[in-house]
Amino acid sequence: MSVSREWARPTVDEVADAVFRIPLPMPGNPLEAVNVYAIVSADGVGMIDGGWARPGALERLEWALGKLGKGLSDIHTVLTTHFHFDHYTLAVELKRLTGCRIALGEGERRTIDQILDVGRRAGLDSFESLMLRCGLPAAHIAEHRFRGEGAGDYAHPDLWLRDGERLDIGRDILAVSTPGHTTGHFCFIDEQDGLAFTGDHILPTITPSIGSESPSERMPLVDYLASLRLMADRPDARLLPAHGVVTPSVHARVGELQEHHARRLDQCVNAVADGARDTFDVAKALPWTRRGRRLSELSGMDQLMAVQETRYHLDLLQAEGRLTVDSSGPVDLYSID
Ligand SMILES: [Zn+2]
Repeated sequence: MSVSREWARPTVDEVADAVFRIPLPMPGNPLEAVNVYAIVSADGVGMIDGGWARPGALERLEWALGKLGKGLSDIHTVLTTHFHFDHYTLAVELKRLTGCRIALGEGERRTIDQILDVGRRAGLDSFESLMLRCGLPAAHIAEHRFRGEGAGDYAHPDLWLRDGERLDIGRDILAVSTPGHTTGHFCFIDEQDGLAFTGDHILPTITPSIGSESPSERMPLVDYLASLRLMADRPDARLLPAHGVVTPSVHARVGELQEHHARRLDQCVNAVADGARDTFDVAKALPWTRRGRRLSELSGMDQLMAVQETRYHLDLLQAEGRLTVDSSGPVDLYSID
């Protein structure tokens, strides 16, 4: 598949003094590429995010570092924003190859344990039972559900990050816990130069998905909106995202994402007012993707993701008292008092 987006093409793009954006390929995936960032100093190379362990990615990274007079063995640390395959699995491969240190938010421990099979079945079961409560037909779930990441691409990190931790990886980096996209998502901030490495928490053109992991007791949209406010309350910074171009202002994009979710919550309430009873019904009433597609036009697995995300909007509306839920039957039914 050829790359069509300008930002995704092979490059070594100096975005700040000795900080380089390196897009790594995501073959066969509509996102096309994932940005990793290399911070070059006398100590070697510190990285933000690792990339996806697929043929071609490691070679691309080696090519890019070569342009900087460095090699893979110069990498001492990889700070990863979250557990998703396109951010974490190449970090695991680098650790195996070079012995570099990799770090991941402590909130991802539950998921990493599930992937490493300590509780994989439990993770898949919790997703399946949530989908049934959302009103999805069992056959649809069985046909399209996510089979889970390959455990072989995963390992525990060397370091589980905690909120507020400071790390020196050639620049002084503040690790800020930003749950929502996943529970253990972190943004990495260079306060001195006003740089925010935002992973998938804040993307310049895409609306990040919410709660992209097996369901838990948490309310991912509540987490996500709180994490957006957190970034809005910090000094503004340049946005260095995992997918897309670098833009001048985190705050500007946070405002757009807050508006998006406020609109989305209103649309959910309107759908229930118009007669949608369960989560699946509500998801069918909402427009999807930037093109405003119908739910049925999405791929089978994307439909499941869409229903899961709708559920997290309904959870928040219920917590705010804008909707009432009846959970006495096999499917959760919503109404407006
Ligand atoms: Zn992600």
